[in-house]
Amino acid sequence: MEERAMNRNVRILLVEDEERLRGTIQEYLRMNGYQTLEASSGAEALRIFASGEAEWPDLVLLDLMLPAVSGFDVLSRIREKSNVPVIILTARCSEEDQLRGFSLGADDYLMKPFLLSVLQARIEALLRRMREPNRRRTYGVLSIDEKAHKIFMNGSLLPLTPREYEVLRYFMRNEQIVLTRDHLLDEIWGIDYSGTDRSVDTIVKQIRLKLGRAAKYIDTIYGIGYRFEVKDYEDD
Ligand code: CA
Repeated sequence: MEERAMNRNVRILLVEDEERLRGTIQEYLRMNGYQTLEASSGAEALRIFASGEAEWPDLVLLDLMLPAVSGFDVLSRIREKSNVPVIILTARCSEEDQLRGFSLGADDYLMKPFLLSVLQARIEALLRRMREPNRRRTYGVLSIDEKAHKIFMNGSLLPLTPREYEVLRYFMRNEQIVLTRDHLLDEIWGIDYSGTDRSVDTIVKQIRLKLGRAAKYIDTIYGIGYRFEVKDYEDD
């Protein structure tokens, strides 16, 4: 009951072009006490963000396969102005799509078809994270505060350059996923960057130096790239 009462102040924007699915999700959200906004296209969703901040939703459920303006485009346009939590809802499920979604700033990813109860749980988890005064996410001895652009080790601020921060944040967001050097170059340095794999290796080397024993969290995958994974190192 208490949770439902809290939900009353939460406005969720649902961007989905399939009318029936949109209706079903919306009905369920309302049943759980949320206020809802609907958009049947990317353009409609962006119109909401083009209006004053008071009109913006508190959370966005975003379908990827939309006519005209794709979900990816909507997400990157939203991120130009807002940190609103975004959950991507999609039948597309390739690793590339997921990575792209996360690199554009999606907070969560839910595969269609999904159970409404699972969607509800994801929404709750995300809102809880947003409500926490301390927004740090923890990875073993490391924690990140993306709002403040800071990473901490055992509670102490790590002195990272902006580029080192970007790379380590990207590793954290893609925990346990093997990232190729090319992919990292594209994502962190941008597609136009004329650098080489060396640039990635150099940054990773610098990050590892600053991480000390937690450098173990970054595995080198021979001939491919890197993978970030939290490991126990007490028994070294
Ligand atoms: Ca769709």
